[in-house]
Amino acid sequence: MADIPFILSRNLAEVKQTIAEACHKAGRPADEVTLVAVTKYVDANLVRVLHLLGVTDFGESRPQELWKKVAEVPEVRWHLVGHLQRNKIDKTLPLTCLIHSVDSFRLLEAVEAEACKQNRNVPVLLEFNMSGEAEKNGFAPGDAALIPESVQPLRFVRLAGLMTMAALAEDPEQARPAFAALRELRDRLTPMLPSPNLFTHLSMGMTNDFEVAIEEGATMIRIGTALFRGLQEFEA
Ligand SMILES: *Cc1c(COP(=O)(O)O)cnc(C)c1O
Repeated sequence: MADIPFILSRNLAEVKQTIAEACHKAGRPADEVTLVAVTKYVDANLVRVLHLLGVTDFGESRPQELWKKVAEVPEVRWHLVGHLQRNKIDKTLPLTCLIHSVDSFRLLEAVEAEACKQNRNVPVLLEFNMSGEAEKNGFAPGDAALIPESVQPLRFVRLAGLMTMAALAEDPEQARPAFAALRELRDRLTPMLPSPNLFTHLSMGMTNDFEVAIEEGATMIRIGTALFRGLQEFEA
């Protein structure tokens, strides 16, 4: 038990060091990259310890797990990073600072309808499937042309950027083309949107590929394994 804060702070220091080095290499200020600690592998105690160590932003991939964690640790910023089912939108909106994973026009419309009902501004990212894997959620790059028109009627949803998950690969360099393509997509879409100055974020990069993601312009990285490795609870 006594090891937990030690291991977490060592892991966090390593991740921060890697972020700083990747930013330096890319000529970017390190404060341009927000670390979102993905807590799906661990319980609320570890979330509290990481918060004490200075982490402010946390993510969950499943809405029901998110609801549970928010109830246990309400004092941090929570992000939803995984698929949102339409029947879980109403409970999820009040609990999240950002939904990274709006992955279809149907979901975008449903989030707008519920946001209107709750009279709430809802920042979202659009998730793109850049790797073309059939089992992955997300817009296809070819859907991008339809986005400017689809966001015109939105009054409560705030389009804050794009998100992607690279294909699993041994070599993080294999993720680079997908990350670069997401950045290019953001840059192409930005002038076509009603609030271009809000449309800035690129949520990309996980434990295996976040250095490459930062070099390609990530503003948010979603990290689980690198923060929790070495903890018995996590290995179990
Ligand atoms: C689990 C998860 C992560 C974190 O992955 P690690 O490889 O453990 O860092 C990031 N994003 C999403 C959407 C996830 O589901």
